[in-house]
Amino acid sequence: MNIHEYQGKELLRNNGVSVPNGKVAFSAEEAVEAAKSLDSSVYVVKAQIHAGGRGKAGGVKIAKSLDEVRTYAEELLGKTLVTHQTGPEGKEVKRLLIEEGCDIQKEYYVGLVLDRATSQVVLMASEEGGTEIEEVAEETPEKIFKEYIDPVVGLTGFQARRIAFNINIPAKLVGKAAKFMLGLYNVFIEKDCSIAEINPLVVTGDGNVMALDAKLNFDDNALYRHKDIMEYRDLDEEDAKEIEASKYDLSYISLDGNIGCMVNGAGLAMATMDIIKHYGGDPANFLDVGGGATAEKVTEAFKIILSDQNVKGIFVNIFGGIMKCDIIATGVVEAAKQVDLTVPLVVRLEGTNVDLGKDILKKSGLNIIAAESMADGAQKIVEQVG
Ligand code: ADP
Ligand code: MG
Repeated sequence: MNIHEYQGKELLRNNGVSVPNGKVAFSAEEAVEAAKSLDSSVYVVKAQIHAGGRGKAGGVKIAKSLDEVRTYAEELLGKTLVTHQTGPEGKEVKRLLIEEGCDIQKEYYVGLVLDRATSQVVLMASEEGGTEIEEVAEETPEKIFKEYIDPVVGLTGFQARRIAFNINIPAKLVGKAAKFMLGLYNVFIEKDCSIAEINPLVVTGDGNVMALDAKLNFDDNALYRHKDIMEYRDLDEEDAKEIEASKYDLSYISLDGNIGCMVNGAGLAMATMDIIKHYGGDPANFLDVGGGATAEKVTEAFKIILSDQNVKGIFVNIFGGIMKCDIIATGVVEAAKQVDLTVPLVVRLEGTNVDLGKDILKKSGLNIIAAESMADGAQKIVEQVG
């Protein structure tokens, strides 16, 4: 789960990690009130969306007066911000962070992420802050330093100081930088983060080290033990179809193609997307209805696929193991009755109760194109939408 920058900063602040003072605002009025409460003459008005790259896209404004705060707040609220992380459709700005302007001396990068190769959390840092870390990794990889963290010992003071030295934090601020990293690591572990990225971490004119940006992601599987983090969830930022799918325990991810896929099992779902691509098509989604899906679940899955305006055809690819083919067939027929099925539907069924399943589909009177194999099904659906 992803949260907003202002929420991430609140979490850091509450855990003793240094961030600038700031407040969230939902209207221009609130933005001005928030600015008034800050002890500063320069304010930063920051669009809060679940995506980075806001600075370059005009989503971070420096205001030198309360009037400017109001002007920028009015300009940003309701605006659709397109950054390199939002996709071309962009994201509507509904919240702002009003923050104290900070006297930046230099920007650095600090990130914590789980390294799957070593099964350890790795602390990464660079003196090339503010820019995309992917670019730094591409062009000047020697400027990224890493410390692998022993899960039993945790991040040590020595490691934190070493990485601070390596990224050329001014000597007299290394202690503060190390304290910052230790604090960030504690939050990462305590709150079951999957990513904690501070870009930029800054050294200020008055000798402080603080996070000017905060991107925190959390492990969904651990959210049950963090009610406080769950409160931060902003459904406005999530895909409506994915929210609907999660209600029915369906693994659904929206993609930008036009072939809706209904598949059971994550492996088969991946393979189905691959084979559609192989025959020149583009999947509109990843969907795993799971092993023990009921007809009701299949119906909901079907409705979710059809609610996507881009879907021009559906490919149902089921291997009936635990999941029986007749259940899937019943669900498909039921869903087709409930929603007006106007797009072509290709079905490939194999496995337990396959004959029963095929029979149900045949007797339904629906216009279903039967496929003999996965490859056959993929080719047929690509032809249909093409
Ligand atoms: P994004 O990563 O989405 O572009 P950031 O929060 O990193 O957004 O902000 C972009 C840039 O704006 C930062 O690199 C920094 O230079 C500047 N900035 C952000 N917050 C402040 C602040 N409180 N004071 C001064 N400058 C800031
Ligand atoms: Mg940033």
